[in-house]
Amino acid sequence: MKILICGFHQETNSFNPIITDMENFRQGGIFEGQELISRFTGKQNQLGGIIDAVLEAKGKIIPGYSMTSQSGGMVNNEVMVHFLTKMLQIIRENKTIDGLFCAFHGATQTTQNDDAFGTILEAFRNAVGKNVVITASCDLHANVTEKAVRNADFICGYQSYPHIDCYETGFRSASIGIRRILNKENLYMAHTLIPMIVPANGYTSISGLFHDLLQKGKNLVKEGKICDFTIFQMQPWLDVSVGGSSVLVIADSKNAAKKHACELAAALWEQRDNFWPDLWDVNDILALAANNKTGKPVILVDSADSTNAGATGDSPVILKDILEYQEPIKTAFLLDDDKAVQQAERIGVGNKGTFYLGGTKAPDLFNPVEVQAVVRSIHDGEFLQEGPAGRGINRSVGKAAVLSVGSVDVLICKNAVGNGDPQLYRHFGIEPVFYQLVIVKANTSFLAAYQHIASKICWADTPGAASANLKRLNYQRLPNGFYPFNDLKSYRVSEPILSWNSEEKE
Ligand SMILES: [Zn+2]
Repeated sequence: MKILICGFHQETNSFNPIITDMENFRQGGIFEGQELISRFTGKQNQLGGIIDAVLEAKGKIIPGYSMTSQSGGMVNNEVMVHFLTKMLQIIRENKTIDGLFCAFHGATQTTQNDDAFGTILEAFRNAVGKNVVITASCDLHANVTEKAVRNADFICGYQSYPHIDCYETGFRSASIGIRRILNKENLYMAHTLIPMIVPANGYTSISGLFHDLLQKGKNLVKEGKICDFTIFQMQPWLDVSVGGSSVLVIADSKNAAKKHACELAAALWEQRDNFWPDLWDVNDILALAANNKTGKPVILVDSADSTNAGATGDSPVILKDILEYQEPIKTAFLLDDDKAVQQAERIGVGNKGTFYLGGTKAPDLFNPVEVQAVVRSIHDGEFLQEGPAGRGINRSVGKAAVLSVGSVDVLICKNAVGNGDPQLYRHFGIEPVFYQLVIVKANTSFLAAYQHIASKICWADTPGAASANLKRLNYQRLPNGFYPFNDLKSYRVSEPILSWNSEEKE
């Protein structure tokens, strides 16, 4: 059994105006040949899982091409063309493969294409023909389109959020592909698309309604009624003409696949109004922080500007609110602003200057805030994550500086990373527990570390490319009749479609 493997990974935020280019993928990692195999073998990610599953089944791995970038704006279409050109060449050179096993994010839009996931799978199917098994593993936030389903044999997505089963998902997708190749098993995949998006911080797989829904699917697998399932909550900041949230079910009969896909999709749809976070008005949070006598900070979550979610990280909106508040609040603040870092270097530590902070990456989204600031320190931007997630991992925010603006200490940097980790502040001399208010630009990842040191955690209703208040954003491409923008009271979950081979093999 010969299996060709590959990966294409980027989560697009359509509202971030900065195009994700080849340079971003170089930073995230581009691998081919033996380097791809050695890079991913034994790693806790999708390709690590795919490699282990193939090796366990005594298969031979043929390395394809893998490209990864951090979340961000639309991908330059030429990057996808480059990936396809490379992969189609490798497919031509390897005519006798049995399987093509791929790892994707799955919510990727290019400057010319709303459905990179489906387009890549379609190109692969055309290149390998009918008899090669194509599998895709992807993120729970993937946009799984009809094109993707019609061209893949099997698609499996994460079953956890926060995502802790990336390796297992790769392993699941490859294992199902191997069952088809080795045992010639007839397995069927059914897919139900639902015209809905909900904010990413309105649910988790740890507890609550979404957890219960996932449990329902896991029970069906345990009871032997289905082989696999995924409940996709489409990345909500994706403004595309095709797609939505969806449910995929793989089973050994068409009827079982369709029936349970419908059932889970109906349950997801029914809960749509319950997947929304409680958002605070910023001034209410500031009042809470100003009167905070607990000795522990109030955490203001500005998830709208989370670079993890593909936002620009340069929003000074809350900084302005804090500076205009009736009394000073001792605050730790984070801002992507490379220009201000350069200015701080020119002015020098201990000196004062006029800065125009924020809005450097997305001037259409944010206006800079004029401040008088003292330069406290300058840094190379390297730091170690404290964890619990990613403990000991080396990160870099690029050149950085700390400015004092009255009672607010602002960490300015080139590109914020590890936003959920208090060490992002600590390393640069800002100790979060000494502040009345700490600004965290993340969605849910920060909870593990911050919940122990916070007196209260408040998700703020703020503008930005990853705003949880979806109605703040100017969606232009989503299909008509889409939740939460339209009243869909009479909507009923539609009949599932089947993957291409499910149609043929009765
Ligand atoms: Zn995700």
